[in-house]
Amino acid sequence: MVDLRSLEYAELEKFIVDLGEPKYRTKQIFSWLSLGVDSFDEMTNISKSTRRKLSEVSFISTLKIREKYISKLDGTVKYLFSLDDGNCIETVVMRYHHGISVCISSQVGCRMGCGFCASTIGGLYRSLTAGEILNQVIYAQKDIGERISNIVMMGIGEPLDNYDNVIKFLHNVNHPDGLNIGYRHISLSTCGLVDKINMLREENIPITLSISLHAPNDEIRNKIMPVNKKFSVKELISACKKYINRTSRRISFEYSLISGVNDSVENAVELAGLLKGMLCHVNLIPVNHVEERDFHKGSETDINKFKNKLIELGINVTVRRELGSDISASCGQLRKKVL
Ligand code: SAH
Repeated sequence: MVDLRSLEYAELEKFIVDLGEPKYRTKQIFSWLSLGVDSFDEMTNISKSTRRKLSEVSFISTLKIREKYISKLDGTVKYLFSLDDGNCIETVVMRYHHGISVCISSQVGCRMGCGFCASTIGGLYRSLTAGEILNQVIYAQKDIGERISNIVMMGIGEPLDNYDNVIKFLHNVNHPDGLNIGYRHISLSTCGLVDKINMLREENIPITLSISLHAPNDEIRNKIMPVNKKFSVKELISACKKYINRTSRRISFEYSLISGVNDSVENAVELAGLLKGMLCHVNLIPVNHVEERDFHKGSETDINKFKNKLIELGINVTVRRELGSDISASCGQLRKKVL
């Protein structure tokens, strides 16, 4: 059985035509899928016999809301969704002045092993299908009843460790007959899989790339991010430079400030040196405390010192505003609690 939500438009078209149906059905079915139907019976402009034919050879993957929390502080909504196989993932809807953003997961668990991250604690269960990634946007939008305009792939999992499905998802969510969300309204965050960054560079998908850098050198990065043993800071930065040259897109560097680990003024100076002259932006995130881990955020003074040093050295920088802090909105925390 084929999950129709995991097919790219052209694949769906081939599937429909192979069933002996006219090509124009593709557009109708693709639109229904994006609207969030749970079954073929809801596709009211498709004949009963076609619907029966479809249900004999395909299915529609769905999500069920297992838990839902709404922040009293800022209206952030956090979902724990059940997948069809009973696994669960987290999705977060955030309200900004420029529109509604959804933060989505790309895998059940993660195998990257970053020392400060809750999502990786139980390892990787499996990657999500393209349909399961898309469903988070579809079902969140359906539930809140408002249009989602921005997507950040910063939930559970390493998106570039699920490369093919993520690319399919990006094509589908951008399709004019589907949710039609512009690539420029989508960001993808990676811990730095250099080989995949190089592939993404050639895809002609102008999304914003975020790099979880978190350290200015190999010594520190090796301690907190095992991926750095495979791809060094130097290799990563060089891949980023090529990416910027090719796509003319600004890269965003995520830097979680961990007290006593990577947050000294010397670290800021080294970071500025590393990023000097690049078309980029640094996002500082005071590290969220995770129970199992012994990492803590520094004082506001430390954070400001780090930030001001970067500004002084000509680096574009912001400190990430915390949203949904009353509902453990950061990735991995809720799923772990419920399991
Ligand atoms: N695997 C991807 C995306 C998921 S994590 C990546 O590594 O980029 C989204 C962001 O949150 C990453 O920058 C990640 O490093 C960061 N992060 C994870 N745990 C955190 C924590 N406890 N405090 C602050 N940031 C954290």
